[in-house]
Formats: sequence, structure tokens, C-alpha cells
Amino acid sequence: MFLEVSQLRVRYPNRPQSAVDGVSFGLRAGDIGVLIGPSGCGKTTLLRAVAGLEPVAGGEIRLGGTVIGSAGHGVAAEDRRIGMVFQDYALFPHLDVGRNVAFGLHRLPVSERAARVAQVLELVSLEGSQAQYPHELSGGQQQRVALARALAPQPQLLLLDEPFSNLDVDLRERLAHELRSILKAAHATALFVTHDQQEAFAIADVIGVMHEGHLHQWDDAYTLYHRPATRFVASFIGHGVFTNARIVEQDGHVTVRTHLGPLTDMLECPLPSAYPEGRCDVLLRADDIVHDENSAVKAQIMRKSFRGSEFLYTLQLKSGDTVMAHVPSHHIHNVGDWIGIRAAVDHVVTFAREG
Ligand code: ADP
Repeated sequence: MFLEVSQLRVRYPNRPQSAVDGVSFGLRAGDIGVLIGPSGCGKTTLLRAVAGLEPVAGGEIRLGGTVIGSAGHGVAAEDRRIGMVFQDYALFPHLDVGRNVAFGLHRLPVSERAARVAQVLELVSLEGSQAQYPHELSGGQQQRVALARALAPQPQLLLLDEPFSNLDVDLRERLAHELRSILKAAHATALFVTHDQQEAFAIADVIGVMHEGHLHQWDDAYTLYHRPATRFVASFIGHGVFTNARIVEQDGHVTVRTHLGPLTDMLECPLPSAYPEGRCDVLLRADDIVHDENSAVKAQIMRKSFRGSEFLYTLQLKSGDTVMAHVPSHHIHNVGDWIGIRAAVDHVVTFAREG
């Protein structure tokens, strides 16, 4: 692994709890890792520790095989060859684009600087903009200049902390895809922080889900969604609810009994022995619930929100249980209507029952 974080702990002197606690993961050269989690879960603190801006209280950080941070030891931030992009682009307003981008190139011979500036500006699709000033550019363009500036000195690792959070939603999504292409073209290894799932999915090779200073899972998007390691990951990624279930085995067939009726035709399911008496909670995602007027199971629409090609319905069963369902938007139903639903679950994800 190119970046290796082991059992990392970071704490602030004025707070009893560690902001980052026992976090371990590895990032391969050329990969883009994304840290996601609710506000205050420790994403920025972790990034700052990797950058050398916060001291390490325990564990270690290795970059290219060298320990750059451990308790009581840290390579100075300016010697780590790490580039950074933050949400407030922090361009120098009085310097033109060319000088902004050249800012970190003082180690490069003067004769080569202009060529490097032109090269990275082309990479971010802003070729020829050297003489413009930041105030003449849009927010998205300014953020691309900030990215060019961070890439110019060819850092070993690029850290990006919510770089799009000041931009409007449409632009964010486009920039997320652009950013991935730019980083891949630059063969950069990058660690990106966001609280936005769509952004994480658009950019990441691998995603880490954080909660209260802990890293719950470090995996690709598909695995996070289909095999969440903890209840927190299951509820944070994608839309879903937990429902009481009982796994039973009869005549060699495993069935999962739920308020929605029995789940059958599963590709994967734990055995009843995994839980006391087979009792557990099953994760039901909105795409596990199918609208089917012929189904005996009925549910009432409590809420609906438009998602373009589909609606996301929040439904309540007679038992009082709530589930969510994606329903194509040409099906017209109103809040309060009862509709037939059926569960179609390939991979049954279960957790020990809570409480
Ligand atoms: P995130 O980036 O996920 O929103 P942070 O890393 O900023 O989370 O914060 C993690 C925890 O550390 C939070 O509880 C936050 O209040 C605390 N924290 C962040 N910065 C400081 C600081 N400079 N001094 C004390 N506590 C801090």
C-alpha cells in the first residue's frame, strides 16, 4: 500500500475523546480513496494528520513505505510532498492564474515553470488562462485552478477536503466526474473527504465510512451497499430500514420470515444458527421492495419524494413497520393510498437485534 494508516489516533488537547480512534486502512498508488461520514465524525482531522497539520497520538502513518507520522514523531508538513485542496479555494486574489499555479514550483528551475503551469492548466481544461485573475473566473473554474496548483509540484499524495461544498448542486456533480478523470490522467493518489454519497460514488475507487472517530468499513461502493459491515454503514449508505425477522430452516430450505411475508429465492442468506433462535434484523433497501398490485401484502404511502425516473416512497405496513420503495414515476399513487408490495431480496443482510 502506498498510503498506510495503522491504528491511528488523533486527539485535541482540550477534548477528552479522540477525534480519530483506531483507524486503519491502505490506499494503493494511483487510487482515489474517499472518506465519508456525518459532520464531526473525524474526516478532516484524519486528513490533517496525514498532511502533518495535527500531531499523531497513537498508531502511525506511512507514505511510500516511510513513516511520516507516529506518536512523538512527524515529518514536517512541507517535507511530505502532499498537495491539498480545500473548500475555500484559497487562491491568491492579487496573483493571476499563472502565478497562482506556479506558487508551489519554487524547486523547479525557472525555465521549466511556465511549461509545467501550461501542462497542468491543460489537464484541468483551463489552457491559456494564465493571465486571468481569480475574480474573473466562476467558482468551478477557481476550484479547477486550485486543483492545478495542487497538482503542479507532482505531489506524492493529494488531499481534498470537501472541495465542492461551496458550489451549487448541478455543478458539484459534473465536477465530481471531471475530478475523477483529471486525477486518473495525472496518475495521482488521492484522499478525498465528503459527506455526500453521490459525490463519493462518482469519485472513489474505495470508500471509508466514518462514525464518531471510528472507521466502520473501507471497501468499494458495491460492497458497502450490498454487504455493509455495521448497522451504521447499512443506514448511512443508501435508503433502507431494518425490520424484525426470523431465519428458519425447513426441509433443507432457509426462509426469512418478516412482516412483509417470507423472503425466498435468495442468493445469500445466513443460517438460523447465526442468531439466537434465528431472530435478527434484516436490512430492506428501497430497491429490495417491489410494487406489485397482486401481492397480498399491502402498505400505506406515508411520504413520497420525486427522484426523476422514480419516486421514493415511505410506506407503512399494517404491523406498523416502515419500509421504503423505489417506484417508477409513471405509476401514480398518492400519500394515504394503500398499494401492494413484495420483497425481492438477493443478498440478505442481517444484524443482531437491537435493544
Ligand atoms: P468532520 O470533518 O468529519 O466534520 P472533524 O475532524 O472536523 O470532523 O471533527 C472531529 C471532532 O473533533 C469533532 O467532535 C470536532 O468538534 C472536534 N474538533 C475538530 N477540530 C477541533 C479543534 N481544533 N479543537 C478541538 N476539537 C476539534
